[in-house]
Amino acid sequence: MLLSKTLFSFATRELLMKIKFLGTSAAWPLPRLGCQCNICSSKDPKDRRTRTQLLINDVLLLDAGIDTYQHLINSKVDPKKIKFVAVSHEHPDHTLGFQDLSRIYLPRKKGQIGSKSKIEVIIHQKTFSKIKNLFHFNEYKVLPVEIGQIVKVGGLDIQLLPVNHTNSSFGILVSEGGKKLFYAPDMKSLPEETFKKINRVDLIAFDGSELKIKSKSHQTILEGTKLGKELKAKQVYFIHIGHRTLPYKELEGFVKDKGGKQFNISYDGLEINL
Ligand SMILES: [Zn+2]
Ligand SMILES: [Zn+2]
Repeated sequence: MLLSKTLFSFATRELLMKIKFLGTSAAWPLPRLGCQCNICSSKDPKDRRTRTQLLINDVLLLDAGIDTYQHLINSKVDPKKIKFVAVSHEHPDHTLGFQDLSRIYLPRKKGQIGSKSKIEVIIHQKTFSKIKNLFHFNEYKVLPVEIGQIVKVGGLDIQLLPVNHTNSSFGILVSEGGKKLFYAPDMKSLPEETFKKINRVDLIAFDGSELKIKSKSHQTILEGTKLGKELKAKQVYFIHIGHRTLPYKELEGFVKDKGGKQFNISYDGLEINL
């Protein structure tokens, strides 16, 4: 009895998708340098945010922004396990980490420097063409993918789905077993084809750059609460939190009030098992 119970819990644990929110800020971190606003002077550790990046099942990074090195040198992450990076779009807060990711060392004999890990990069051709001359991509294995093409890596299915931001920006749909996560840090809105594919998804992590002020390339959190309901998402976490929002506690209250209990504000270090 005890044995079968142990086996059962082991089996169910294996099916969980492990999501680590390594960073949750918009293109600039919080607090902003020199700023004394309510967010920047907050004593709540949840108001300290680095550039948005998620880690799935310890093997897949979503985006590779400026803070990648700081995220991976942290004792809670083992960089040697990382085998794949999927990229949403070309902006520096999502790609500058490619400088550092090409130098992850694998274990070797005592006293010697290990060989380097060759990470696979899942990226759309249009996005890749915008950054390919900036980094040493010969040190990576680049997998250019088409819209909607399913890439199977590390037991996960990954698809890039268009979002309205730049003309080479995508949301990343990650599926494992029956569980689905949709990640879209930068988006003004969703084209119909993407909307249909992520209906009733288990977890959406999407753009929280603005609270109410309209911008031409980002949705507002207020719009996100409406969209999350239309999508019938089971859970929604705002990521890519901008400066013109609110401190964590107030922001969490705001989304629950406008959206409902399935709406949440992410923070650096948050872990969710889906
Ligand atoms: Zn961004
Ligand atoms: Zn501030």
